[in-house]
Parts: sequence; structure tokens; C-alpha cells
Amino acid sequence: MTDLFKTDRLETLLPQLEAFFWEEIAPLEKDFLSQPFNQVAQKCEALREKAKEKGLWGLHLSEKQGGLGLSLVEFGQLSELLGQSPLGHYVFNCQAPDIGNMELLAHAGTEVQKEQFLQPLLEGKIRSCFAMTEPQFAGSNPVHMATKAEKKGEHYIINGHKWFTTAADGATFSIVMAITHPEAPKHQRASMIIVPTDTAGFVLVRNIPIMGEEGEGYMSHAEIKYENCQVPQSYLIGEEGQGFALAQQRLGPGRIHHCMRWIGICERAFAMMCQRAVSRELSPETSLADKQVIQHWIAEARANINAARLMVLDTARQIDLYGARAAKDAISSIKFFVSDILMKTLDRAIQVHGALGITDDTILSFWYRHERGARIYDGADEVHKSALARSVLKQYR
Ligand SMILES: Cc1cc2nc3c(=O)[nH]c(=O)nc-3n(C[C@H](O)[C@H](O)[C@H](O)COP(=O)(O)OP(=O)(O)OC[C@H]3O[C@@H](n4cnc5c(N)ncnc54)[C@H](O)[C@@H]3O)c2cc1C
Repeated sequence: MTDLFKTDRLETLLPQLEAFFWEEIAPLEKDFLSQPFNQVAQKCEALREKAKEKGLWGLHLSEKQGGLGLSLVEFGQLSELLGQSPLGHYVFNCQAPDIGNMELLAHAGTEVQKEQFLQPLLEGKIRSCFAMTEPQFAGSNPVHMATKAEKKGEHYIINGHKWFTTAADGATFSIVMAITHPEAPKHQRASMIIVPTDTAGFVLVRNIPIMGEEGEGYMSHAEIKYENCQVPQSYLIGEEGQGFALAQQRLGPGRIHHCMRWIGICERAFAMMCQRAVSRELSPETSLADKQVIQHWIAEARANINAARLMVLDTARQIDLYGARAAKDAISSIKFFVSDILMKTLDRAIQVHGALGITDDTILSFWYRHERGARIYDGADEVHKSALARSVLKQYR
């Protein structure tokens, strides 16, 4: 941890949250590793109530929304702590994709949309999902898609095929990116439309198995068909043709959330790696920690995680001060830098644990499977590297 980004509010809040995390959330990990997710989710409901009672609800929300009104720098540091368990963000209702949808609706939703969809989301009464990616099109080029929304009377009729819609199983509504203006310039063709999941024609085809596990409820990624889904035109978010611009806005702060969560995972894996290194005896006189190669892994991981944290918090600071658009190079940098360190740290932690590392007796293997996606979602790392390089090279041309 660094003191550079500490604030008075964090001095009070962080110890409270730490106590809650280790006393209430961390003990659920055993259940998480051995039970279907929906069973564990029920236990999380009780913890949500406790968090509300303790005044810890709404870590990511403005005061107007009933939250604590923290800056992104402050929220980032809490997010790191919550990231040390796969349930941390979920218990505090600041999990992706809901957190991004909350920000989107708060920013661009109508008053009626806020009342109908945002408010219950903020209260943790419902969940939502976000559907942009399609199996037949490269998600790396988000303006390239086939899902269409056509006007008929007072409604949109939506037809399309999406996949990797995280947490659609059990969600109350989906925010769907669909083409409304096929003839417009490519960045102005699509719009974002709310589709309640009980709309006729909303077909959840399957939860996609990820490395052998299809998951359920919040912990799943769905393939979905939209077959003549009819929704009122008042379910349009923002203006027609603004879908791409809104998606960019949605993803900016979202990358800080993911990166800080990844640093939390790194810290947890790092602690587990060190504990295992000192406790695993190779002989009565020596432990793994006495071996130089293990020491080097530990030193490298320590330096990498520290560097990653400073980069992410500095990016959060830039967003707080100047907005996500101005911080776009910094955002691209942390996206690929931190996801790479996450993968390396998890891999080393597993290696130090030996065979135990690939079992489901520790949390490491869950993260190894499920966080592999970190280098792919929210813009594949290669796309961010190209964007950053293009921006840097402009100064030399
Ligand atoms: C765990 C997970 C959760 C997700 N959740 C959601 C969600 O909730 N909603 C949603 O809409 N989508 C979601 N996605 C989808 C995600 O946004 C896409 O997977 C991502 O945009 C990449 O698109 P793609 O999979 O089609 O890969 P492609 O675009 O086909 O790219 C494949 C690979 O090609 C390389 N590549 C691509 N473009 C370039 C380039 N310009 N230069 C160099 N190399 C390149 C990269 O290595 C990339 O990984 C999720 C994905 C994952 C893995």
C-alpha cells in the first residue's frame, strides 16, 4: 500500500471495510469454492443488509444517490481490498457489469428510466447486464455488429445474437447495443436500448462454459438471442446513434474498477505465495522460501504490484481531475499492464503451491480460470497497446 493517495475519509473508512471484509466476506470463500454460486449469493444478501446497517453501502455512489460520494482515487483503494475475494464487489453491489450500468443510467438515463431501472439497481434489489459483443463479429471492433432495432409505432423491435453477456442469468434487464441508423457514419449507427429480460423473444440460449465451468446467476456469461423483442421507444438511453459514444464513457472509469480489483487479486495471491514459500518444507532444514528462484519471483511480484498500483491510482487521479477522455492514454496503459501482471502473479503463486495450486482447494485456480479473460475483455490488450502507440507516435510525426 502507498500513502500517496490516502485521504482523511479513507483513514476512517478503510479500517472499517477491512474489518468487515475479513470477518464477514472472506469466511464465505470455502462455500464459494464448493457450492453452486446462487446458494452463496443468498448468504451475500444478509451481508448486504449488514453493510447497509454499518453505513458502508454505496461505496461507488454519489451522495445524491445515497452513497458516500468518494472520488475514483478513494473508491479505487477500497476496490483493491474488495478484490481480494471474488465476492467482495458483489456483496457491496459494485460488481461489473452493474456498476457500469449504474454510471450509464445516472449519466444518460431519463427520469423514468432512473426510477424504474436505476433505483432498484442502486438498492441491490435487481441485477443487470450489458450486451454488445456478438459471436459472428470481432468484438475488438465494436462498431461492427448485426443486431438491429427497428421502429414500429411506439416501439423498437430488436433482433440479434449476442454472447458473453456477463451475469445475464437472473438479471432483470439488459442494455443492448443495436443498430438504429445503418446509413449513418460508423460511429453513429448504434444506440443503447434497455430490454427487460422478461420481454417475449429474449432467449437465454445458454451460460457459456468457461474452461469447464458454465457457472450460474451473477457468475456466468450468457449467449442470448433477441427474437423480435418489442420494447417502448422510451427505453432508448441518451439519443439515437449515441451508443458508441456512451459505451466509451461507460468503459473509462470501468477499467479503473477492474484494474484495482486485479491488484486486490494480486495482493491476495502474493500473500498466499509468500505464506506457502515459508511454510512448505523441502527438508527439515529448508523451505521453498530459501530457494533463490522463489525469492526472485517474490521480489519481482512485489515490485510489479507496487508499480501497477501507482499507475492505476495516478490514472484514477487524472480521471477525477480531467475526465476519462483526457486520461485515455493512461487508461490504455493500465489495461494491458495490470492484466499482464495479474496473469504473471497468479501463475507464479500457483507454481509455488505445486499441485495444490491447480486444485479447487485454494482460490488461485478459480482466478486463474476466470481472470484469463482480463487480457481479452474491456478491449483486448493488443488493441490498447496499438491505441497507446498511435497516440505516442503522433508526437513524433
Ligand atoms: C470474461 C469476459 C466477459 C465479457 N463480458 C462482456 C459483457 O458483459 N458484454 C459484452 O458485450 N461483451 C463482453 N465480453 C466480450 C468482450 O468485450 C470481447 O471478448 C472483446 O471485445 C474481444 O472481442 P472478441 O472476443 O470478439 O475477440 P476478437 O475481436 O475476435 O479478437 C481476438 C484477438 O485478436 C487480437 N486483436 C483484436 N484486434 C486487434 C488489433 N486491432 N490489433 C492486434 N490484435 C488484435 C487480440 O489478441 C484479441 O484477443 C466479455 C468477454 C470476456 C472474456
